[in-house]
Amino acid sequence: MLSTMQDVSLTVTRILQHGSTVHAGAEVATWTESGPRRRTFGEVGTRSAQLAHALRDDLGVTGDHRVATLMWNNAEHLEAYLAVPSMGAVLHTLNLRLPSAQLAWIVNHAADHVILVNGTILPILAAVLPQLDSVEHIVVVGPGDRSVLEGCRPRVHDYEELIEGRPTSYPWPDIDERTAGALCYTSGTTGDPKGVAYSHRSIYLHSMQVNSAESFGLSWQDKVLPVVPMFHVDAWGLPHAAFMAGASLLMPDRFLQPGPLAEMIEAERPTIAGAVPTIWNGLLAEIDAKPRDMTSFKRVIVGGSACPPSLMRAFEERHGVRIIHAWGMTETSPLGCVAHPPSGLDVETEWEYRQTQGRFPASVQARLVGPGGEVMPHDGQAAGELEVRGPWIAAAYYGGAGGEHDQPEDKFRDGWLRTGDVGTISPDGYLTLTDRAKDVIKSGGEWISSVELENHLMAHPDIVEAAVVAVPDDRWDERPLATVVLKEGATADFTALRAFLAERVAAWQVPERWTIIESVPKTSVGKFDKKVIRKQYADGALD
Ligand code: ADP
Repeated sequence: MLSTMQDVSLTVTRILQHGSTVHAGAEVATWTESGPRRRTFGEVGTRSAQLAHALRDDLGVTGDHRVATLMWNNAEHLEAYLAVPSMGAVLHTLNLRLPSAQLAWIVNHAADHVILVNGTILPILAAVLPQLDSVEHIVVVGPGDRSVLEGCRPRVHDYEELIEGRPTSYPWPDIDERTAGALCYTSGTTGDPKGVAYSHRSIYLHSMQVNSAESFGLSWQDKVLPVVPMFHVDAWGLPHAAFMAGASLLMPDRFLQPGPLAEMIEAERPTIAGAVPTIWNGLLAEIDAKPRDMTSFKRVIVGGSACPPSLMRAFEERHGVRIIHAWGMTETSPLGCVAHPPSGLDVETEWEYRQTQGRFPASVQARLVGPGGEVMPHDGQAAGELEVRGPWIAAAYYGGAGGEHDQPEDKFRDGWLRTGDVGTISPDGYLTLTDRAKDVIKSGGEWISSVELENHLMAHPDIVEAAVVAVPDDRWDERPLATVVLKEGATADFTALRAFLAERVAAWQVPERWTIIESVPKTSVGKFDKKVIRKQYADGALD
């Protein structure tokens, strides 16, 4: 028997229409050198309609044309997030920190027709322009030196001039919820970058999950600060989710340094924020040195790489900020699991739960698979590769214009996404990751978790950051090398550091090789770049 229920498409258009009417008074504030620039959700709605008119009528965007953005987090980027999918086209967010060759490769692979670019980062675009095949139009958003575009082949437009005077409503088409609304490439740490095309349906369902209390719990009583860039996994889905929930947004634009972040938090009083651990580490040092009012935060979400427990505790104990740990990846939209503890526990047991990667919602099914393909029990002991499936999990990679979508065997198995992350799941459903498969240190047939060593080291009072990588070893195959960044004024005593670790992990896991570094190299999205560290120290530095 078929159901008797209405078959209503789940689309970004619905998010746009709802947010800009019911929540017309909610606000998006974009940080600038002279304080915030404010716009209501109602205005975002009308400007999105104007943008859609301009894209269709002047720039010839039709069908599933890709409209790319090379932009910071700001109100205009939000307008593109809403207008482009709603008109039936595909929003392609470009990571402005990628090396030029990779950026050009991605634009050509996606066959982007238009690029919206912030004026402040035009030189990044200018550097790759000669290599771009498909781009017909460049739309410059905000001030910036446009002379770098002189003589380029694509037509250059100004965003405000382009949308000015256009009709403030748009005949949004009916859209099949399974079609792509947004396209995002992984940063390609190995091989070419891979495109993940989110559907309207996946964006809609993911937004509902972001807003659910078991995840980030956004509502119209919140103000959300997405520090995580809108060019990386759609800023964890926060812009679409906030627009759906009527949660106001505080957009940091290019002011991502600890000083301006602390200033905007104190002035604008966001209730929720999201960023990778590196950002929070920097902010912690800033507010330890120069305290600011952080009391507006109900919670901040940390994910993208393992959050050191010492960082979580420092924020809570010294600044009253509750950090929630979450796990996800580009291929999972990215919301996977969130580490809210069960209720009724004593504080220390709560911390144990909060330091895990968290619990999955019903829509994300998880399993652990052993090296021989066997499915492992969820007993909190057996470790395996995490595989997931669900309505906002990728089933394949985008194949490029006219190409078949790609399902490489190392990423997909029997309808499951292979995450490349290794860990355990407890009987009550909490995931604990020990490592990325490629970062695990294989020493004498046993595995050493680089993340565990790093977490202990980063809890040491003399250490700011620590990254542990495998280096080749004649006897044990691989051994850990600890690279550490010392606090200002601290001196290195490797014997003491070894003793510190020996109290916390098995003796055979304690690294023999140590080196002091100025800072840990970071990827384009601020994660520890272990590939670079491995390359630099392949022969294993010794104290
Ligand atoms: P990449 O870093 O490869 O460019 P993603 O941003 O999609 O791409 O990264 C996803 C990966 O980040 C996950 O597979 C996992 O290894 C890591 N990650 C994300 N969140 C966490 C977390 N809370 N703890 C540990 N690792 C995490």
